[in-house]
Amino acid sequence: MVDFLDSNKWFGVILGIVSMVVGLGYGYFFISGEPITIKADFLVPDSTSAMTIAPFVLLNDQSQWGDYSIDEILCHEKVHIIQNWSCLALGGASFYGIYGLNYVVNLGIYDDPDLAYYNIFFERQAYKYQYEHFKPDLEVNF
Ligand SMILES: [Zn+2]
Repeated sequence: MVDFLDSNKWFGVILGIVSMVVGLGYGYFFISGEPITIKADFLVPDSTSAMTIAPFVLLNDQSQWGDYSIDEILCHEKVHIIQNWSCLALGGASFYGIYGLNYVVNLGIYDDPDLAYYNIFFERQAYKYQYEHFKPDLEVNF
């Protein structure tokens, strides 16, 4: 039988393991400059090239990348990893909370899922860096 103390102990063990994996992932990212990229097309929604669960990048099948190259995708996702790192001072999952709240507020403002997504503060910043880095001739107004 599992009593309260036992379940608390296992919560601590799981939290410790997750913290260690996340810490090692960030260590690898900050030392190498490249995120650990996991090919996980079953986890990433269709027509989405990649998704960051910081410090890891989940990559969709190449057929879902659109016009983007792997370098462009990783440039975008690296910005999200650094954004997530910056938010850690506010708490572990605060990046996703702010991201989700921003999306919901944008849905109310724009009444369009695409516009709501592209106007999330974190996405505007990530696309800005992505375009500045890979399409320097293109005029970007963010
Ligand atoms: Zn993004």
